[in-house]
Amino acid sequence: MDQKKSITHDSRVIAYAVHRSPRAKRIRLTVRGGGEVLLTVPARVRWITRAAIDARAERFVRDHAAWLARKIDQAERRSRTMPHLLEQFGPGDYARLKDRALVLVREKVARFVAPGAPVPAPIEERSPLRGIPHGMIAVRNQRTCWGSCSRKGNLSFNVRILFLPEPVQDYLVVHELCHLLEFNHSPRFWALVAKVIPDYLERRRALRSGEFGRLGMGEG
Ligand SMILES: [Zn+2]
Repeated sequence: MDQKKSITHDSRVIAYAVHRSPRAKRIRLTVRGGGEVLLTVPARVRWITRAAIDARAERFVRDHAAWLARKIDQAERRSRTMPHLLEQFGPGDYARLKDRALVLVREKVARFVAPGAPVPAPIEERSPLRGIPHGMIAVRNQRTCWGSCSRKGNLSFNVRILFLPEPVQDYLVVHELCHLLEFNHSPRFWALVAKVIPDYLERRRALRSGEFGRLGMGEG
């Protein structure tokens, strides 16, 4: 049974559950999807009394209080914007979501590439992406990135694209399509992205804020 504890940081109470794990080698803090905090503590460390471990664990939480407050806010914001879908879908859901994501990205790629297809403002109608050939389009459950483009021009997108707001989805698709012309992240690449989506920076910032998925997930 996990023990409930709390600390006060900047007059804010941060509650956490203490889990004693026989397998844990070190003290670890985790912030879960809904903002719940879990402190994992080694059940036993040779030469150290349990009271000493507990004192060390509590100091660990205090030392990370500012970081915790930030992570809890993020998690709460995220669970509001993306109710329970993002991290908790099971294998059955995945197949269904993958199909939906594939339809979505195929449709978007076609819209940006087909000559003359209408695109939402302020995306450039006569963009350099019109008419460019691309390889296969795939959707994956990637852990570390939102999308990628291979040397052969195959495009792959994270299934979580489904949960992004449309302007951010568009940015992601345009980003990968621009790699068909610039296979790098050089200033030339970013100039190209800006030419297609003049307000791409705002969309990129939203994508990288961690609001829609794991922090640190790259664009690819
Ligand atoms: Zn990229």
